[in-house]
Amino acid sequence: MSKAIKKAIEAPRGYHYFHILEGFFVASHKHYGETLHGHNFRCRVKLRLDRTEFNCACFSQVIRGLDYQHLNRIPYFRKFTPSTEHIARYIAESMASLGCQAFEVEVFETDGCSGGVTICGS
Ligand SMILES: [Zn+2]
Repeated sequence: MSKAIKKAIEAPRGYHYFHILEGFFVASHKHYGETLHGHNFRCRVKLRLDRTEFNCACFSQVIRGLDYQHLNRIPYFRKFTPSTEHIARYIAESMASLGCQAFEVEVFETDGCSGGVTICGS
């Protein structure tokens, strides 16, 4: 049996570590007077950490829930139009409800077009 045990390392005073997770989902939406259309959305989440050891299944769970959906049919997007900023906020809030606090979420409709949120106090 290996005695190599991976130990988490606390961030030094004045520092935070971070992890970046990326995921993809295919979905359609209709917002701001545009016609119904779809994207291969890309999502990038930054998590601020106090220690190096980290394991998060929340992000992939939330992304899976958006894959192959028409976003306007998700109750959240009946209240907030499914723009990239609101999709990012939905992802952040969904992850938080699963116990994982994101620091920043960015959603890309294309390589050159994204929107997102930074979560204050995380
Ligand atoms: Zn779009």
